[in-house]
Amino acid sequence: MKTIIQEINDDANNLFIKREDLLPFSFGGNKARKNLYFFEEILSKKYNYVVTYGSSSSNHCRIVANLAAKFNIPCIIISPEENKIETSNSLMMSLFNAEIIYTPVTMVKKMIDNIIQELQEKKYRPYFIPGGGHGKNGTKAYLDVYEEIMIFEEERKIQFDYIFLASGTGGTQAGLVIGNIVHNKNKEIIGISVGRKLHKGKQAIIDSVVEYLGKSSNIENIKKHVNFTDKYLLDGYGKSNRKINNTIKNVLIQEGIPLDSTYTGKAFWGMKEYIKEYNINNKNILFLHTGGSPLFFDGLKENNYE
Ligand SMILES: *Cc1c(COP(=O)(O)O)cnc(C)c1O
Repeated sequence: MKTIIQEINDDANNLFIKREDLLPFSFGGNKARKNLYFFEEILSKKYNYVVTYGSSSSNHCRIVANLAAKFNIPCIIISPEENKIETSNSLMMSLFNAEIIYTPVTMVKKMIDNIIQELQEKKYRPYFIPGGGHGKNGTKAYLDVYEEIMIFEEERKIQFDYIFLASGTGGTQAGLVIGNIVHNKNKEIIGISVGRKLHKGKQAIIDSVVEYLGKSSNIENIKKHVNFTDKYLLDGYGKSNRKINNTIKNVLIQEGIPLDSTYTGKAFWGMKEYIKEYNINNKNILFLHTGGSPLFFDGLKENNYE
C-alpha cells in the first residue's frame, strides 16, 4: 500500500510531504496502516473480540472500530472519562457500534484486564490492541513506509536528509528508525512530540526499536538514531496556539492539505521552527503527514483557524 509523496512550496529547502492521510481506509493516517497489520493477525488467528484503548478524539479508536465493524467482530473501547467529549472520531466510533466504556484514567489498566478476563470467561477469544496501535505490528507498518520512501528516492534521484513527523506513542518513529538501521542509512528522523516529555518519549521509541530488532541489538547505535524533541509541545497533548492555527490555515490555503492542531499541525509548525532554529537550508526534507483528518473538522467547527 503506497501513498504519494508530493513537493510543496518552501523558500529555504526542498520540502516534500508524504500523504499518509490519503491511505484508502477510514480517512487514512498512521492508525489505518498500523491496524491493517493488527487485523491481519486478528483474522488469521481467529480472534473474535477486539479491545482497545483511547480517548474520544482518538484516530486509532475510530479505525479499530471501523475495521471491527467491517469484519463483524465486536469491539470494546476503554476510554478515559476525563477526556469525554463529542468529536468526529467519537461519533464515528458510535456509528460503528463500538461499545465505549469510560473509566477514570487511573483505572484504565485494571479495566482492560477485567474486560479481557470477563470475555475469556465467556469463551471469547479477545485480542487487545494497545493504545495508538503500539507494538510490533504498528512498528512494522512504518518500516514499510521507510522502504516506500527509499523507492521514491531511487525513482526521483533524490535523498532525503531529514524526515519530520508528529510523534506520540513513538511506534511510527520507531518503524522509521528501524528503516535507517537495517538499511544502513543516516537520515535525520525528527519526532516532534505531541504529548510526552523528552525522556519518556525518547525511551518509548528506543524500547519499540529493541522490541522489534531483538534484545541483542546495539542499543548505543539505536540511541544515535533517535531524535525526539519536546520543544514544541506547548502545554501538552492537544494544546494549541495561534501560530499552529495560522500554520493550519496557511497550509490549507496554499497546498490544499488539511492538518490538525493536536498532531500534524503542531508537528508541521514545530518542523518550521526547528528548521529556522538550526538554520537548515538547501536540504531535502520530508514531512510525514500522519493523518487525523477528522480532527481538522473538529477544529474548523470550533473556529480555531480564523
Ligand atoms: C497517533 C497519531 C500520531 C502519533 O503516532 P505514534 O505512532 O503514536 O507516535 C501522529 N499523528 C496522528 C494524526 C496520529 O493519529
